[in-house]
Amino acid sequence: MSRLVVVSNRVSLPDEHGSPPPGGMAIALSAALQRRHGLWMGWSGKVKAGEDPSGPISRREARGISYALTDLSQTDLDDYYYGFANRVLWPVFHCRVDLAEYSEARMSGYQRVNRLFAKLLQPLISDDDVIWVHDYHLIPLAKELRNLGCGNKIGFFLHIPWPAADILFTVPHYDDLLRGLSCYDLVGFHTDDDLSNFAECLRRQGLPDPITNGVCQAYGRVFRCGVFPIGIDTAEFERLAEQAARSETLQEPSQRIPGCKVAIGVDRLDYSKGIEKRIVAFDRFLRSNDHRIGKTQLLQITPKSRTEIPAYLAMQKDVAERVGRVDGELGTIDWMPVHYINRSVGPSELAGLYRMARVGLVTPLRDGMNLVAKEYVAAQDPQNPGVLVLSRFAGAARELGGAILVNPYDPEAMARAIEEALDMQLDERIDRWRAMIGRLREYNVYRWCDDFLLGLDQR
Ligand code: UDP
Repeated sequence: MSRLVVVSNRVSLPDEHGSPPPGGMAIALSAALQRRHGLWMGWSGKVKAGEDPSGPISRREARGISYALTDLSQTDLDDYYYGFANRVLWPVFHCRVDLAEYSEARMSGYQRVNRLFAKLLQPLISDDDVIWVHDYHLIPLAKELRNLGCGNKIGFFLHIPWPAADILFTVPHYDDLLRGLSCYDLVGFHTDDDLSNFAECLRRQGLPDPITNGVCQAYGRVFRCGVFPIGIDTAEFERLAEQAARSETLQEPSQRIPGCKVAIGVDRLDYSKGIEKRIVAFDRFLRSNDHRIGKTQLLQITPKSRTEIPAYLAMQKDVAERVGRVDGELGTIDWMPVHYINRSVGPSELAGLYRMARVGLVTPLRDGMNLVAKEYVAAQDPQNPGVLVLSRFAGAARELGGAILVNPYDPEAMARAIEEALDMQLDERIDRWRAMIGRLREYNVYRWCDDFLLGLDQR
C-alpha cells in the first residue's frame, strides 16, 4: 500500500502520550496514517516573530506517523487564513456574499501560502505517495505541486458546501479555483447538491456535460468527482453518552429544574449556524405556548471562534444581547429560558448533555455537513430518544430523514417544530431515531475515510 500524505491547514497533533486528539476526523485520519506509515503536513498554529518569513518545516514523529509543520508569518496568516480563506471563501461558500471582503492582496496571499506549502512539501514526497488535501484553505495546492513536477495521485476533500454558480462567480478570479480543482485526481464533496453545483459552475464556464459517471473533463485534465458524506465515530459517541447517563454529575442539568425539558444547541459562534434566528424561534415558541413557560429551556453551547474577524465579534455581542433580552423578559427567579454558555465543552460532557436533551436544535442557515446533528442522534437513549430538529440546509439533512426538517429562516415554522418535537409520542420518537442510527453506524467516519482513499487509490 502506498504511503499516505495528508495536508490540511491545521494538523491534529497527538497529546504527550501519543494519543490522537479528540474529534472523529482526527482519529480516523490518524488511524489511516498509522496504517500507511504516513505524513501529515500543515501550519503549526504558530506565528513568526516580527518580519520573519514563513517556514521552514519542523518534523515530529509519534506512533508511526510523521508530522511536518511550518510556522507562518503574520502577513501570510492575515492574507491567506484570516483574509482570503475566512473573509472570502468561507462567507461566499456559505451564501453570505454580503460579508465577503475580497482584496487582491488577500487572493495573492492565499496563492503565496499554497505555493509555500507545495515548496515545503515537495522534498518530503516519494513517487508513489498518495496525497490527500483537505478543505478550502488549500484548493490551489495540487496546481502548485504539479508546477513543481509532482505526478502523484492527489485527492481533495471540501469540508464546506460548494456554492451555486451565481454565488461562486461573485469571487473575483473564481476561475482560478475551478482550474485549481482540476489539478486533483479525485475531488470529494459532502452531498449530491455540492457536486451538482460544481458541475453547474463548469457548465456555465462553457464546458458541455463536464461530469459523466463521476469523471470530469475540464481545463485539459480528466479527474474524478464524488460524494463522500463525512460521518462521526458513532460507536464512541454512543459509548460516551451511555457512560454519561450513568454518571451523577452529568445527570445534574436535567434535575436542576424538575420537570423541565431541554432543547440543546451546540455551535461554534459563526454566522452560518443560525444561532440568532434560533433564539428568536425559541422566544416565539415560548410566547405562543404559555404552558411551556418554566418547563422548557434552550441550552445553547457556543464556543467563540475566529475572534480576529470583525463579523464574528459583532455576532458575539448580538447573540449575548438577544439571550439577555429573552431571559430578562421571560425568566423568573428559578428558571431562565435560554442557558447560554460561551465556551467549549468537551466530548464526554457534550455526549451527556445531548442525551439529556429532549430536542436537538440544529438549524444552520448553511452547513457542509454538521456533525453536531449526527452526534445528537448517536447519543440518544434507544429506549427513550429525543427528537432532532434539523435545518434543510445542512448537509446532514440528506442522511437524517428521521429528523423534523425545518427552514432556519422561518422562526414561526421552527417554533412549531419545537412544539411538535416536545409533543411527539415515544413510538414515533423511536421509529425516527432508528431510521437514523442505522445509517450513522454504517457510514461512520472510518467508512468515510476508507471510501475516499479507495476512490483515490483506484484512480
Ligand atoms: N464541539 C465541541 N465542543 C463544543 C462545541 C462543539 O467539542 O463546545 C464539537 C462538536 O462535538 C463537533 C464539532 O465541534 O464535533 C463541530 O462540528 P460541526 O460539523 O457541527 O461544525 P463546525 O464547527 O465544523 O462548522
